[in-house]
Amino acid sequence: MMKPAATEKFLYQSQPAQPDAVRVGWVYPYTYPVSMSSLGYLTLFRQLDERPDVSVRRINTDNMQAESVRDLEMMGVSFSFELDILEIIRILQHYQLPLFARDRDSSMPLLFAGGPVVMTNPEPYADFFDFFLIGEGEEVLADLITAYQKHRHLSNRSELLKILAEEVPGLYVPSLYDVSYAEEITGITPEVKIEKRWMENMDEVIASTPILTENSVFSNTFLVEVMRGCAHRCRFCLASYSMLPARGPSLESIIEKIELGLIHTDKIGLLGALIADHPQFEELCTYLQGKKDAKVTAASLRADTLTPHIAKTLKQGGQQTVTIAVETGSEKLRKRINKHLKTEDILQAADITAHAGLATLKLYMMVGLPEETDQDLEDTVNLVKTIKKQNPQQKIAFGCSTFVPKAQTPFQWMPRESSKVLQEKHAYLRKQLYKYCDFRPSSPKWDSVQALLSMGDRRLAPWIVEFVNQGANLGAVNRTFKKIQVPSLAWYTERQRESSEILPWERISLGVSKETLYKESGL
Ligand code: SF4
Repeated sequence: MMKPAATEKFLYQSQPAQPDAVRVGWVYPYTYPVSMSSLGYLTLFRQLDERPDVSVRRINTDNMQAESVRDLEMMGVSFSFELDILEIIRILQHYQLPLFARDRDSSMPLLFAGGPVVMTNPEPYADFFDFFLIGEGEEVLADLITAYQKHRHLSNRSELLKILAEEVPGLYVPSLYDVSYAEEITGITPEVKIEKRWMENMDEVIASTPILTENSVFSNTFLVEVMRGCAHRCRFCLASYSMLPARGPSLESIIEKIELGLIHTDKIGLLGALIADHPQFEELCTYLQGKKDAKVTAASLRADTLTPHIAKTLKQGGQQTVTIAVETGSEKLRKRINKHLKTEDILQAADITAHAGLATLKLYMMVGLPEETDQDLEDTVNLVKTIKKQNPQQKIAFGCSTFVPKAQTPFQWMPRESSKVLQEKHAYLRKQLYKYCDFRPSSPKWDSVQALLSMGDRRLAPWIVEFVNQGANLGAVNRTFKKIQVPSLAWYTERQRESSEILPWERISLGVSKETLYKESGL
């Protein structure tokens, strides 16, 4: 394994590797400080590092050494965001590995990826990777190593991949599938589906920071996963649909972990799509309030679960900002997206945070949601103004992204508006609200690249390579489309799909059928 940097504190026993250990590169396609804040990446690194039959080393974009990766048998990539593919291509180029899986031979490591993006739609990346892990890595990774050890002697890579696909549930080998196209997909063979793997008992492997370092985005913070997934099923939400069923460890296990963390640091971070949905979250807050010296940070909260008790815990823990995802100021549109939050709940939550003394309220919303009207934008303006009027001393940070349809959610059939329209909507909100809040819009053009990858298919692989070679900036988007023969950006992102259309990701099953998703779409 990689020699730990001097500032790293290991909270577990790293095992020396046996001479015949499987040699794995564990890749996070971003910088070291970001990788050290990723609980998913570090949890699986620990799982590998605790096995004497695995020799694992970490690879980030700022610690790519001159040394070759040709000695590795596998490289596993933590793939969290669609645009990560751009860095992954650069990493392969840096190590002079052929980009396409079909061009790599048995002298080169097998390349695989896991994470929410490739679990929902791996197809745009299918030509680059040998296989994908579908589901939670804690479940699939151990089986993968065991099966690989049995068959690593095979020099025929296709044969090896076929055997791994047969023996490891949740392993998706895209080269075993053929896709045919007219403009749309006309067929995917064979019919075999890959079912998502997930952990039933979160107490067994509760995720918490295994390595502390100052040089992390969350410096010296001990992170604990309080909830996995979210049961609310907002129709656009990947975090909900990719992680069902929502579940969390017991209160006792969470407390046991925090006690361990507090031996090494005073900073505790609570993670999860919706942490306050943990059935004993109020009790957890009571426990944390008893830890007077602990600094506590929490992920985003839902307005209707925010109580004075929770707000007080965050304030006492040193948090200055609380984040609430509202999505839109329009109650009618919130119902349409299945976010059943009443305006009065949002106003009450804002009031609670202000009275607890939290200096900043961060609101997350988006524009371009399906069926959005001018009146809905007006409602957003009014909501922000009302919150500001209610508590003028509290700062409001308004993060405003644009709707990106995501595979495997009920809104996967929905069109996205053009970047021009979305930019106009952002401009309108900025004009109306700049006196009331710190307006922070996303880039509609980058969001459209994200949508392209989210809804894309295998034909995009040469487009991705060319886009990277052209500099991977916004100016390169149109240039790349002119050069590479694929359907247009608008075809991928701005059209309503028919319910009968074969979707690129149909061989991946996350446990919610296409029929159920369609029913939930409200179409
Ligand atoms: S409440 Fe938040 S995390 Fe849960 S489904 Fe809705 S948007 Fe997703």
